[in-house]
Amino acid sequence: RAKESGRGRICTFTADMNRNVVERMRLLSRVRLAFDRQAFTLHYQPQVATADGRVRGFEALVRWTDAELGPVSPDRFIPVCEDSGLIIPLGLWVLETACIEAVGLACRGAGEVTMSVNMSAVQLAQHDFVPRVLEVLARTGLPPHRLELEITESQMIGSLDAAIGKLNALRQAGIQIALDDFGTGYSSLTYLRTLPINTLKLDKAFIDDVHRRADARGLVSSISRIAHDLNRSVVAEGVEEAGQWEVLSLMGCDLIQGYFVSRPLPADRIDAFLASWEDRRPRLPVVDDHVV
Ligand code: C2E
Ligand code: MG
Ligand code: MG
Ligand code: MG
Repeated sequence: RAKESGRGRICTFTADMNRNVVERMRLLSRVRLAFDRQAFTLHYQPQVATADGRVRGFEALVRWTDAELGPVSPDRFIPVCEDSGLIIPLGLWVLETACIEAVGLACRGAGEVTMSVNMSAVQLAQHDFVPRVLEVLARTGLPPHRLELEITESQMIGSLDAAIGKLNALRQAGIQIALDDFGTGYSSLTYLRTLPINTLKLDKAFIDDVHRRADARGLVSSISRIAHDLNRSVVAEGVEEAGQWEVLSLMGCDLIQGYFVSRPLPADRIDAFLASWEDRRPRLPVVDDHVV
C-alpha cells in the first residue's frame, strides 16, 4: 500500500516536473519572440514623499501581454529571461527606455524626478555592468543623480565583494542605489550596513498590517530608525490605504509607493496623473524624525 502510494507520488512529481519544463520552454520561446518584436512596454509607478505628498520619482516596471498567453507577470517571465541570458538585452532596453522617459518628464515640467530601475542579479554579475550603465546615461543625457538602481539581497549571495565594488563605482558616479524587497528572503541588517545603498525599500509584507497591528508598526519604526541612523532613506512599498500612509508617515518612512497613490501607469498617462495628484495629494505637516 505504502509502496504503491509512494510510486504514485513519484509519478506525479515527474509529471509535474515535465509540465514545468514544457511550460518554461513555451514561455521562453514566447519571450524570445516578444523581444524580437519589441513587444515589451514599461509602466511607471510614482513614489511620493510622506512629508508633503510631492512626487519624488517613478519606478519603471516591465509589462508584456502575449497574444497566446495573455498578460504575463514579470515575476513569471523575468526568471526565464535570467536563465536564458535574455535579461541582458532586455535589461538594457528597460534601462535606456526608462532614462529617456525621465529626461522627457523633466522637459515637460515634472522637475528633478528620480527614475528607479530594477536590476537583475545576472545584470549585476556582468563584468562590464558599470560602464554599460554609464554609457546609457551618457547616451540619454539623464543626470546620474536622477537614476536609482534597485537591487535585492539575494543578488549579493556568492559575490558580495564584487557586487559592493560595482555599487561603489556607481555611487561614485552619482547614481543612487536602493535595496528592494527588504524584509523578505535573506534580509539581514549586515547588508543594510555594508552595502553602499541610499534607500531601503520595505517590502509590502511589512506594510499590509501596519495600520492594524502594533507589532507590525514596531517592526517598521525600528527598521526605519536603524536605516536613518545609517543615513539611508526608507520607502514603503505596496501602500494601498490612507490609514497606512498616516501611520507610515508617523513611523518615519520617507516615501510611499503603492496603489493608494497610483497603480503603475503607461507613459502617456503620467502627465495626467501629475496634474490630478497636485489637487488631491495629502498635505500633512512635516513630521520630525525624532518625535516617534
Ligand atoms: P518590485 O520591484 O518589488 O515591484 C513592486 C511590485 O509590486 C510591482 O509588481 C508593482 O506593480 C506591485 N505593487 C505596487 N504597488 C502595489 C500595491 O499597492 N499593492 C499590490 N498588491 N502590489 C503593488 P510587478 O510590476 O508585477 O513586478 C513584480 C516584480 O518583477 C518586481 O518587484 C521586480 O522584482 C520584477 N520586475 C519588474 N520589472 C522589472 C524589470 O524591468 N527588470 C527586472 N529585473 N525585474 C523587474
Ligand atoms: Mg523594485
Ligand atoms: Mg519590491
Ligand atoms: Mg518584488
